Amino acid sequence: MNIVLLGSPASGKGTQAELLCQKFGLYHLSTGDISRELSKKEARIKEIVDSGKLIPQEEMTMYVINFLTKEKPGLKNILFEGFPRFIPQYEALEAFLKTNGDDIDVVFSLDVSKEEAVRRISARRTCQKCGRVYNLITNPPKIADFCECGGKLVLRKDDEPEGVRVRFEYYKENTEKLIDYLDQKGKLVRINGERLIEEIQEDLVKWINSIQNLKTK
Ligand code: AMP
Repeated sequence: MNIVLLGSPASGKGTQAELLCQKFGLYHLSTGDISRELSKKEARIKEIVDSGKLIPQEEMTMYVINFLTKEKPGLKNILFEGFPRFIPQYEALEAFLKTNGDDIDVVFSLDVSKEEAVRRISARRTCQKCGRVYNLITNPPKIADFCECGGKLVLRKDDEPEGVRVRFEYYKENTEKLIDYLDQKGKLVRINGERLIEEIQEDLVKWINSIQNLKTK
């Protein structure tokens, strides 16, 4: 089963993705994590990611498809987080999976208001060493300013006010169009992301179980 998880910045995609991958044994393909790794090696990518802009869409599509073809040939059961973000990225992914006899089984959109997302981002701290994400209010670290791995917790560059403004602009301009497109095709499941982590997870698990049941019938 292949799942796409869409949502605005700070909609909780990363948290829900990790829980789902543990529960269903899915491979977690996060293009945000990939981009942050790439930005350690390439100044051009770092400039894009830190400013909250998006990597040129065709470049990211090529990266994902190359990765799946060369690094993980035949990989099944993938949870795509942060990809696709554009209609052409969605179509390219769908076409790629179909040529391998596979498909996108479900697309979830984790919906939160911009106000809630901004509130979450201002309380979000990320470990410089391992990338783990904390929330100073709902999920604070045991030792102030430090991750359990010993790494220092920082405000991610793209979580600073200008980065957040740019990311919402890109989200509105691109991903909201993808969401509307999928909605019209009847491919989208909207999930209310303004609830407890466990409640959202329960909802997602129910959906996935029912889709799995349909597939095995
Ligand atoms: P995220 O953690 O998903 O918000 O992604 C962090 C950053 O990675 C984005 O602001 C982009 O610079 C880059 N990125 C992630 N996914 C994509 C994508 N599908 N297309 C282009 N750039 C992306």
